[in-house]
Amino acid sequence: MIIPKRIHVLDTAVDCINITDALKYVDQHIRTGNKAGTILAVNPEKIYALRQSRFLRDFFTKAAILIPDGIGIVFAMRIKGYRLERVAGADLMQQICAQAENRGYRIFIYGATEGVNRGAAERLRERHPAIKIVGRANGYVKDEDMDALVAQINESKAEILFVALGSPRQEEWMSKYLDQLESVKICQGIGGTLDTIVGTVKRAPLFMQRLNLEWFYRLLQQPTRVRRQVKLLQFVWEVGVDLLKPLIRSSHK
Ligand code: UDP
Repeated sequence: MIIPKRIHVLDTAVDCINITDALKYVDQHIRTGNKAGTILAVNPEKIYALRQSRFLRDFFTKAAILIPDGIGIVFAMRIKGYRLERVAGADLMQQICAQAENRGYRIFIYGATEGVNRGAAERLRERHPAIKIVGRANGYVKDEDMDALVAQINESKAEILFVALGSPRQEEWMSKYLDQLESVKICQGIGGTLDTIVGTVKRAPLFMQRLNLEWFYRLLQQPTRVRRQVKLLQFVWEVGVDLLKPLIRSSHK
């Protein structure tokens, strides 16, 4: 069984895992797990969100897998000596779909607007003709209709559930409803991934992804994210200070 090493970047836990092992975990857990394992993404923005919310901190600690989704996180892990590549939540989601197509696993997609949700399901079916998307629901289901949504997911017998409500909404939903899901073995929080599949929000071109500049591309696309991304600078600063701490301590001895 894949149990990745969990380390801390600043005060947040994250797993030393690559995409291949994450896929192996998904496969094993679907075949042998008895309750839903959650896959959540850690990036610098999340570190600050977790500091503000005890609920998020607790929920992240309980996750089956915490993927190193932000390049800032990956660099901080490398400084600590862990040689890792970034596991972008959007890439992992698409690879889980490819694997599910091969293995015949059933998928339910919950989140985003109706148009984006429907469009993403269509795109995935085009890319993976044998994929079993056994159900989907947009992310604007009213509270009073939640029981019906849970029943719909249970009736679909999906083993894989993607929740795309943005953070912390998706974590709150999972924490409240996962226990009621009977067939789901893997639940990944995928934020705005469905928008990138449909193309309403574009991912950075490959060369920018390879240069680790996806965060910059997102900023250009959605300038309103600037406040969220200022956190990146704070993160770089804090990681630097963290790195210097042992030096400062030893110079005081
Ligand atoms: N969303 C939703 N229901 C809501 C609020 C948001 O389904 O009540 C969706 C929204 O349509 C978008 C996603 O959640 O598809 C949020 O994407 P964002 O990029 O903000 O998420 P992040 O990855 O940054 O957490």
